[in-house]
Amino acid sequence: MLTKKFLLEEKDIPTAWYNIVADMENKPLPPLNPATKQPLNPEDLYPVFAKALIAQELNRTDPWIEIPDEIREMYRIWRPTPLVRAYGFEKALDTPAHIYFKNESVSPVGSHKLNSAIAQAYFCKKEGITNITTETGAGQWGAAMSYAAKAFGLELAVYMVKISYEQKPYRRSIMQTFGAQVIASPSMSTKAGRKILTEQPQYMGSLGTAISEAIELALQTPNCRYVLGSVLNHVVLHQTVIGLEAEKQMAMAGEYPDVVVACFGGGSNFGGIAFPFLRHNFTEGKDVRVIAAEPSSCPKLTRGVFQYDFGDEAGYTPFLPMYTLGHTFAPPHIHAGGLRYHGAGTIISQLNKDGLIEAVDIKQLDAFKAAVLFAQAESIIPAPESSHAIAAVIREAEKAKEEGVQKTILFNLSGHGLIDLASYDSYFAGDLLNYELTEEDLAKSIDPLEKIL
Ligand SMILES: *Cc1c(COP(=O)(O)O)cnc(C)c1O
Repeated sequence: MLTKKFLLEEKDIPTAWYNIVADMENKPLPPLNPATKQPLNPEDLYPVFAKALIAQELNRTDPWIEIPDEIREMYRIWRPTPLVRAYGFEKALDTPAHIYFKNESVSPVGSHKLNSAIAQAYFCKKEGITNITTETGAGQWGAAMSYAAKAFGLELAVYMVKISYEQKPYRRSIMQTFGAQVIASPSMSTKAGRKILTEQPQYMGSLGTAISEAIELALQTPNCRYVLGSVLNHVVLHQTVIGLEAEKQMAMAGEYPDVVVACFGGGSNFGGIAFPFLRHNFTEGKDVRVIAAEPSSCPKLTRGVFQYDFGDEAGYTPFLPMYTLGHTFAPPHIHAGGLRYHGAGTIISQLNKDGLIEAVDIKQLDAFKAAVLFAQAESIIPAPESSHAIAAVIREAEKAKEEGVQKTILFNLSGHGLIDLASYDSYFAGDLLNYELTEEDLAKSIDPLEKIL
């Protein structure tokens, strides 16, 4: 058998998102107001985010947050997504491990990002907000948000990291198709952008800078809010539809995973697939291992520090307690643009600090090698981001083979790579590098951080 799909029906689309914070013994530390160093009040965030999203962000008590019918109605366009037993990939690896993947690449924009974009657009619209701003790295979030904004009749401006604006012009085309305005970041349209462009005219941008620009524009525009595609608790919350569906589908397959793997940018697809399973560790004494696969060139979980830091480069966001490389960290220009973020979400940071999750780092060339093997075995060309998860799965499958044990591995295929083929071209041409970051490289952005913890 080449492959086997486990499919749910529309009625199986989850009716509530899972808020893991309610079940955590050690809850994440509170976000702080950077001026006073006091815990943030919800009102502090009102100028930036929709109120319903702030309530989700700060909710520490309710394990289940109902999904409004209008959102489930939109989810029906592509959800439930398939769970696939990757027989072809198992065979290619000659491993006794059983490998399953949740295929989030089937969304209209090709990634998991739409799960949260739809929800964020809905709550903004419901509060009478008319304009939204956001940032995008590789363009996946921008594409998802453009689609969602159009669906709910919102005007959207997207700051796109300049290196991706140039490397990935087709994602820009997708955003424009759905009516969004796309601006290369850093730009001259904001104070944050002008500052960095005058200091470093050749700067090709980072997610941190693009976030600063998007927040600045939101604050200056009437009836406008900012939306973010990863890192924040409410974004991870929305992504738990992935794991909640996968839980039912693994039961259909008659298995329960020993290991759950996802790639790691800010943590939304990782938390999305892992938290519903981790819940059983917390509430029923299961012991599934969950592994976050981050790029060696942006290694916040494996080499960063646990500290309060800003979520953006200019320092407009609250202080968030997280594993960070420092908000001024400028990651090397790897092709997995969606993983080039300096920090990890606060829930995942706390879980990592408490040893409840694992993190591994993956080199760029290993990710592409894994991607090609997977594509040939399973007929799907994975996104460069997702390929980091695949490389981590290969390690686990090889370990199972060495140890001669059967092991069930579930991973999230966060997106397809059909709009990232220029990156594949560079790989085939031998133009891609592994970036080795030295301790000195990391110290440049970590050492200047204020030591609050
Ligand atoms: C954005 C993105 C990621 C990384 O973001 P997370 O919030 O860490 O999930 C991973 N895969 C794809 C395809 C993406 O678009």
